[in-house]
Amino acid sequence: MTNTTLEITKLAYRWPGRAGFSLIVPHLSVAQGESLLLLGESGSGKSTFLSLICGTILPDKGRVDIAGTDIAALSGGVRDKVRAEQIGVIFQQFNLLPFGSVMDNILLPLHFAPARRKRAADATTEASQLCAALGLPAGVTSAKATTLSVGQQQRVAVARALIGQPPLIIADEPTSALDANSQVAFLDLLFEQANTHNTSLLMVSHDARLGERFDRVIRMEDIAQIERAAA
Ligand code: ADP
Ligand code: MG
Repeated sequence: MTNTTLEITKLAYRWPGRAGFSLIVPHLSVAQGESLLLLGESGSGKSTFLSLICGTILPDKGRVDIAGTDIAALSGGVRDKVRAEQIGVIFQQFNLLPFGSVMDNILLPLHFAPARRKRAADATTEASQLCAALGLPAGVTSAKATTLSVGQQQRVAVARALIGQPPLIIADEPTSALDANSQVAFLDLLFEQANTHNTSLLMVSHDARLGERFDRVIRMEDIAQIERAAA
């Protein structure tokens, strides 16, 4: 049996209030080292699903096991720590700290994750190595994140997700703001880094053309029952 990095079981969530959007995911698992692309139209609940996996929102029912721990059953502080230890997250808008340097931004997840910090024995050296591997110019680590180009900010977001080798990388439409050439370069870097460390990769997108690079491609409608309240 292969090791399972992520396992979703009987997950149910409804956004409170007027939106009336609900999501049920009976089952999904991602094996160690596996790359999975989850495709879905805009508004199909992809970002909601990723927030449930990260534990930034809590399901009404069901389990979200990350490396064997049900993140949905943990109290807030413990959940934050497990997320920081186990998951590298690349958001749609990168979410870099505007006033922090590139180095501050890359090291951020390690503050909440002692085991992950331990794996990055010399964290600033690993951060610099990641920057170099990701094609960022030498010396960029002391620059303010907001002074970088969009493509460079995205590489910083990737370095922040990869530092300390979390077992799972989650990426929410990370290529949507990029031109075709930058998309290819970005995915090359992400896969190269993930393969080196046998990291599982779960990416969501509305772009089916990305599919050929992934071990497995699934569609939101195949794993999830979605309901929207009538307008
Ligand atoms: P996708 O990422 O596939 O575009 P989302 O998960 O962002 O889809 O949104 C799916 C639906 O969930 C939205 O149409 C909206 O009804 C609801 N939703 C998303 N975010 C929120 C929120 N913060 N508060 C209330 N409803 C939300
Ligand atoms: Mg989204």
